[in-house]
Parts: sequence; structure tokens; C-alpha cells
Amino acid sequence: MKLVKTIDEVRECVEKWRQAGYSVGLVPTMGYLHEGHASLIRRASSENDKVVVSIFVNPMQFGPNEDLDCYPRDLERDQEVCKTCGAALIFNPSPEELYPSGFCTFVDMTGPTDRLCGSSRPTHFRGVCTVVNKLLNVTQPDRAYFGQKDAQQLAVIRRMTADLNIPVSIVGCPIVREPDGLALSSRNKYLNPGERKAALCLSNGLNSGQKLLEKGERDPAVVQAEIHSIISQEPLARIDYVELVDSATIQPVAVIDHAILCAVAVYIGKTRLIDNFIWENI
Ligand code: AMP
Repeated sequence: MKLVKTIDEVRECVEKWRQAGYSVGLVPTMGYLHEGHASLIRRASSENDKVVVSIFVNPMQFGPNEDLDCYPRDLERDQEVCKTCGAALIFNPSPEELYPSGFCTFVDMTGPTDRLCGSSRPTHFRGVCTVVNKLLNVTQPDRAYFGQKDAQQLAVIRRMTADLNIPVSIVGCPIVREPDGLALSSRNKYLNPGERKAALCLSNGLNSGQKLLEKGERDPAVVQAEIHSIISQEPLARIDYVELVDSATIQPVAVIDHAILCAVAVYIGKTRLIDNFIWENI
């Protein structure tokens, strides 16, 4: 496995693979890899001859008062994870490599980016779409892998690649959780022991919502209120949103009669965590 820092080195490597007839998978990440990322890399390795993992804490997708400067990093450990999971190449560019001076082109979207994380993080998806577009152009993979953990991001990337005719298959992968239900996230590192316990209110709230759906409830407002009330019982939690939306368009639904995304974002202390489930059992 190789680690490279420049676009030219990635292109050279991928070009050689293409000449040899290899298929290529891409797993975009911000590093500090955990079992959720590892599951994406393993899946990519099982479906492609060569896998590129990008590790880049993308400044463009962070707002002015967010955690860009303290976002956790551990490149040495990340390399071990990538190697063990079968990656062939890590692309770890500097911000200047992807955004050289004079950079002024952005990929913007309306619709699927308007609500949920898009309303509390107004410039977030512009940063995500722009960097993912660049990473797809640099690596030109057959398939790119994204976690259902960031369900809105997955819907946005699917829409962007369709709208811009980018020749890649987008593969969504299931959420990996801790044994007690907390969705794995690099940001879980910020939680102190009390907050770690409190963070369970996200998955507990979602589980209660899911149970209502299993019992036949089809009014989104009722399911939303149930999840809201469970999470609100946790004193360390401050709810950003609890929403039930169409899983592809990320627009509100009046009644649950097709696949919906039920998503939450909650501050536990200063740490903003997200979690969700998809309901397809109509
Ligand atoms: P990040 O490094 O947070 O940008 O995440 C990189 C990719 O890993 C994204 O596609 C995420 O959705 C995915 N991912 C992060 N956490 C998980 C998880 N717990 N389970 C599955 N995929 C995940």
C-alpha cells in the first residue's frame, strides 16, 4: 500500500491500474478511521481490484465556529487500518493541493441540501459536493463508497452524480454501531464518560420511533414527537433536529407511505452527533 500527497501521483497510479484492466473503488474519509470506515474499505476491496482511500479534513465543509482545528487525526493508525482492510493507495493531500490559490469554483445544490444538516450548517454541503466532485475527478473510480451514517450526504452525492452525469456507481453502506447502539463516529472521541452515556439518547430515541412505525403508526408528527420526547429526557442533550423526510429528496412527508429517512442531530455538551434509520417496510 502506498501513501501519496499529490494529484499527479494518484493519477499516475490509477492510470497504471487502468492499463492493467483493474477496477477501482474510492472511499472518501476525513481520517481518524474506525470500524465504520473499515467496513466501507473492506466492502470496496471485495468489489474492486484496487481501492483508494482519501484522507482529507476538508476545510470547506466546516463552518466558521466548528471543529476544524481540533478534528482528531492519526495518520499512522489510519495507514494500518487501510492496509488491513485491503486498500492499495491512500490519498492524503494538503488543503493547498486541493484548493490552490485562486480556487473559485464550487458545486452547489438546492433541494436535498436545504433541510436537516443543511439548515444548521449552511455551507456544509457546498464543501462536501465540491470536494467529492474533485476526488471523483482525480481518482475516476468505478464505484465510490459512502456510509448510511451520513444519510443526507449519501442522498446528496447520489443526486449530484446523477445530475452532473458523473460515471460512477455510488454504494451506500450500513451504519456500524458500538455494542450499546451508539453509531461510530470520529467525533465520539470528544465525549467524556458522562457524555458518552448521554449520547445513547440518539439511538434510544430512534429505536422508540422505529417501534411506533413497526406497530403501524404512519403519522410523521407522532413518530417525531416520540423521538423528541425520549431525547429531551437526557439533561446533557440539546436537539438540533428530529426529522422524517423522503429518503431521496430530503423533503418532508405528510404521511409515511414510501421509503423515509428518520434522522436526528443532537448536541451532547459541545459535540454535535447525528444518527438515523431508513424505514422501507411500508
Ligand atoms: P468521515 O470521515 O466522517 O467523513 O466519514 C467518511 C465515510 O465513512 C462517510 O461516507 C461516512 O458516512 C462513513 N461512516 C462514518 N461513520 C460510519 C459508521 N458508523 N458506519 C458506517 N459508515 C460510517
